[in-house]
Amino acid sequence: MADPIRRLVQELARLPGIGEKTATRLAFHLVRSNRQQVRDLVAALLDVTDKIRLCSVCMNMTEVDPCSMCTDPQRDPETICVVATPSDLLAIDRGGHFRGRYHVLHGLLSPLEGIGPDDLRLAELVRRLGSSGPVDSASVLSSPRAPSPRGASGASSPGRAQDPGPDRSVPSGSVREVIIATSPSVDGEATAMYIARMIKPLGIQVSRIATGLPVGGELEYSDQATIARALAGRATM
Ligand SMILES: [Zn+2]
Repeated sequence: MADPIRRLVQELARLPGIGEKTATRLAFHLVRSNRQQVRDLVAALLDVTDKIRLCSVCMNMTEVDPCSMCTDPQRDPETICVVATPSDLLAIDRGGHFRGRYHVLHGLLSPLEGIGPDDLRLAELVRRLGSSGPVDSASVLSSPRAPSPRGASGASSPGRAQDPGPDRSVPSGSVREVIIATSPSVDGEATAMYIARMIKPLGIQVSRIATGLPVGGELEYSDQATIARALAGRATM
């Protein structure tokens, strides 16, 4: 393989979900493409890296800050749906059933992969929930009430320990409910538990999306965990 192609394959293979086989196929396709197509692709890539940033409120990707969802008066500011990624946000919003605001974590807690609370946009979430003055989100995150993920016990740094944390007698801002919409994976569950324990002291209702049997799914082929969650997450009819 010629060196320039090999280099392109290497770069493409760094993208998520692209293995070496796919990268090679894409590279050969690009080599055969006309120059204008390739220029357009490069321009689009540069455009997103130059123009897209994180919304300072919800941490979703946006061209304007705050983003259009955070400034939309039709969206209920009292309900925040917490998701792991911008793609999860899109998946939920596409349904059109949720008309509140969002918060994007940009990942899930994963002790095995060394991803701890500081790697996610949790401090920004806490800051958002406490609008009665500037809240030192770090003190909430490192408070003894918030559990550390297994195997990655974060020792609180000196200085944080003296901070009494937010005044719990003061109702936290205008947010009434936080819906945690992380996936029902091990990491998703751990993240949901962590956030729930972090938020509950603020006096805000925390709920978790019910996961369970897929519509059209067969009960007898579902695993025990799925059935258990479907039962636990049952809604009154
Ligand atoms: Zn936003």
